[in-house]
Parts: sequence; structure tokens; C-alpha cells
Amino acid sequence: METVINSAYLYAAVSFILGLKFMGTPSKAKRGNFIAAIGMIAAIVATVLIITKMPSKTANIVFLVSALLIGTIIGKQMSNKVEMTGMPQLVSLFNALGGISAFIISLNEVFINIYEPTNNIFKLVVVSGIILGGASFTGSIVAYYKLSGKFTKPKSRVIKRAAKMLFVTLFILSVDLLLLNNSTWEYGSIIVLIAIGSLIYGVLFSLPIGGADMPVLISLLNAVTGVATIFSGIVFQNPIMVMGGVLVGATGVFLTIQMCKAMNRSLKNVLFGSSQTVRIDDHESAIEIQQTSSVELSSILAFSKNVAIIPGYGMAVSQAQQTCYELHKKLIAKGVNVNYIIHPVAGRMPGHMNVLLAEANIDYKYIKEMDEVNDVMERFDVALIIGANDVVNPLAEDDPDSVIYGMPIIKAYKAKHVVVMKRGMSKGYSGIRNTLFEKTNCKIFFGDANDSLQKIIDELKAI
Ligand code: NDP
Repeated sequence: METVINSAYLYAAVSFILGLKFMGTPSKAKRGNFIAAIGMIAAIVATVLIITKMPSKTANIVFLVSALLIGTIIGKQMSNKVEMTGMPQLVSLFNALGGISAFIISLNEVFINIYEPTNNIFKLVVVSGIILGGASFTGSIVAYYKLSGKFTKPKSRVIKRAAKMLFVTLFILSVDLLLLNNSTWEYGSIIVLIAIGSLIYGVLFSLPIGGADMPVLISLLNAVTGVATIFSGIVFQNPIMVMGGVLVGATGVFLTIQMCKAMNRSLKNVLFGSSQTVRIDDHESAIEIQQTSSVELSSILAFSKNVAIIPGYGMAVSQAQQTCYELHKKLIAKGVNVNYIIHPVAGRMPGHMNVLLAEANIDYKYIKEMDEVNDVMERFDVALIIGANDVVNPLAEDDPDSVIYGMPIIKAYKAKHVVVMKRGMSKGYSGIRNTLFEKTNCKIFFGDANDSLQKIIDELKAI
């Protein structure tokens, strides 16, 4: 039995690593997901086998199978119902569930299994699980509401200060727990205080981070949940849980570093409940923009040599990826060179645009990172912006007071012609005006991105 369990865990561990490896390439991501899912089934089977060796095995198995059934039904319903644009919120909810599990496992260990541990290392593990699990639970719930557009503008310096004070308080309480010989009553009370504090800290930590800084928050919470899972794995002495936590934690940390780089933000500011937000730009003065039509745009495209397609969140809303690829093929047939330029934080989750383009089976060789092309952007005859806004906003370079100042952008404004596809004059996620629309080389093609692309394809057929 022991050999079967260990083999299943080994298989699961290898599957998780392989799954992650495949997920690194958009075209193989589905296969990666499948491999990791099979690994997870193996891990669950091994866990059931462990339970069969325990004294109260019938009750435990009934409990485990019921939990699995309920979880599977709810998860399936949610995944079936969710729109592609709702995926980031769903991921935040899943992250919250990971956090609350680590939180409950650690509390369970304190109050149900061993009320008064003497071992300091064990105390450290349990306290870390409570703090990280609790904070990532409430932090992810706040992130969920922010991504759903229910909490918007980050303000309050008071919240940031309170977050810092609470962080210090949690640290002092943890040190007290580790270094002093508390009585049983004190030990339990301090744990309760730490648990409540960590739940509040998650809220205070996430609330002030907003606008364009959200990708950093999301990837950081992901990393925190991973680390919390490592501590739960140590508590349970379960190697696959530790392994899963290490993988989630490590990938989350790498993603956080990449997102910080993409946003040009320091991790320190994010960590201590602060962002480089200076002010919310609510400049509403009238601006003059130029419009274009499908007839004009299709002829500009047909007679271009190099076209850059810059997708953004609007592409996901409109589900225009397939139609975009149809346009791409039409342009290639006319001898136009087409490239996609992806900003790391475009859309609403890391890698969002890569997923969309992979869905349309767009070959990776056409996709360029923004750093590769920013210096040669003037070579493009047309920069066709499909539902992107913040990631091409020149205010990030020009206005030190802007909330997105310092964030690297795709320098679409340097292309010979810039065409933006959007439905109206709504702002991007950060809620600020976009000075690109006022540039003399920029025109806007109003309409749903999918419909607009279809109109251009129809016009191109006639050219
Ligand atoms: P933005 O949110 O800045 O802009 C999206 C644009 O798409 C809007 O101008 C909107 O204008 C347009 N749009 C919406 N629906 C449609 C449609 N059906 N057809 C055509 N256009 C449409 O998107 P970006 O991708 O440029 O930037 C992403 C922002 O989100 C950044 O600020 C980033 O920091 C933030 N963010 C990113 C996360 C990540 O992990 N990637 C996570 C959370 C936030 P209109 O309504 O007028 O059509």
C-alpha cells in the first residue's frame, strides 16, 4: 500500500511539473492542463488510500467523497457558466479558496489536533499558514470584487497606514508566540488574534492597490497562497501538498517579478500596502478625435507593408480573436507583413492575450513582445489597436502625475498610422484619459471589435 501511495505521489509531482512546462507554450497549454489534472486525480486517489489506513476510515471517506462531489459540482457549474472575460475573477475566487484551506488547516491543527505545541518550528509553520492563508483569502476576495468592477478607485492613505501598523502588530504577536512561554490560554488567544488580524490585513493590503497595478496584486496573492499551501503540507506531513505549494509559490513569485517589471513598480511598495498612485486623473476636458471608416481602413491596410496588431481587453470582451486571424490571413495573402504585439499586462490576467491568440491558433512566430518592437515601431505602416487602451497610453511616459506614470507602454504612437477599435470613448481599466486618441496620426474606428474586423474583411474582399 505504501509503495502505491508513494508512486501515485511521485506520478502527481512529475505531472504537475510537466503540466507547468507545457503551459509555458500557448499552443501546448491545453495539454499541460490535462496532464496536471490527471496528476491531481492520482494525488487524490493516494490521499483516499491514506485515509483507509486511519482508525475512523468510514466517516473520513464519506466526508472526503461528499466534499469532492460538492466541490466538483460547484466547480463544474462555475466553469461552465463563466464568460471568457470572467476568467480573472474566477481565478481570484479559486485563489481565495486555496488561502482559506491553508488557514483552516493551520487553525485545525492548533485547536483540534494539538492545542499546545511546544516545538517552536511547528508553531512557526502553523502561524505562517494562518497569516498567509488568511491574508490571501480576504485579499483574493477583494481582488475578485475589484476585477468585477465593484471596488474601483484606490485612495485612502489611512488604509495604507493601517495595513502597515497591522503588519507590525502581526509580526510582534508571532514573535511573542515563538519566543515566550505562553500559557495554554494565552497561546489560544494569540492565535485567535493573529487569525483575525491576518483576515483584516488581506483586505487592507488589497484595497489600496488598484488601477493598472492590479496584475502585481493578483500574481502576488497567487504566490502567497502557494507558500501558505507549503506550510499546510508541512503540518499534514503531505509531500504532494508541499510540492504543489512550492510550484504555485515559485511560479507566483516569478510572475510577480515579471509583472512588477512590466508595470515598472517596486515590489516593496506593493508588499506594504502602498502603490505609486499619485492621483486619480479625472481630466474631462473635451478632446478632438478623428474617426475612420471600414472603407478607408481596409485600403490603408491593403496597401501597407508592415502592420502591427495590438490586442487588449476589448478583444477578449468582443471575442474577436478568430475574426482577427481571418483578417490576418487576408492581409498575408495580399503580401502584408503582420505582427502581433503583446503587452504583459494587457487584458485582465497575466498571459490573457497569449491565451486568446492561441485559441485562434495564431502561430507564435507572428507574436512579438513589446520590448522587441518599441524601438522600431516607426517601421510599421499601421498600428491596429483592438480593444487596448492603458497599455498604449502615452500619459505613462508624459505625465508624472498620472496613475500609470512609469509603466512601460507599447509605443503605438510612433507608427505611421494608428487605428484604435473601440465602441465609444470609455476609459481603460486605470480610469484615465488616453492622449493617444488626440494624436494627429491616430484615428478611431468605433464599434464592437468583432463587427469592425468583419467589416474590414468584407471590404478587403472587394479590393
Ligand atoms: P483597458 O482595460 O485599458 O481598455 C480596454 C478597452 O477595450 C477600452 O478602451 C474599451 O473601450 C475597449 N473595449 C471594451 N469592449 C470592447 C469591444 N467589445 N469592442 C471593442 N473595444 C472594446 O485594456 P488594456 O488591455 O489596454 O489594459 C489592461 C488594463 O487592465 C491595465 O490597466 C492593467 O494594469 C489592468 N489589469 C490587468 C490585469 C492582468 O493581469 N493583465 C489584471 C487586472 C487589471 P470601449 O468601452 O469604449 O469600447
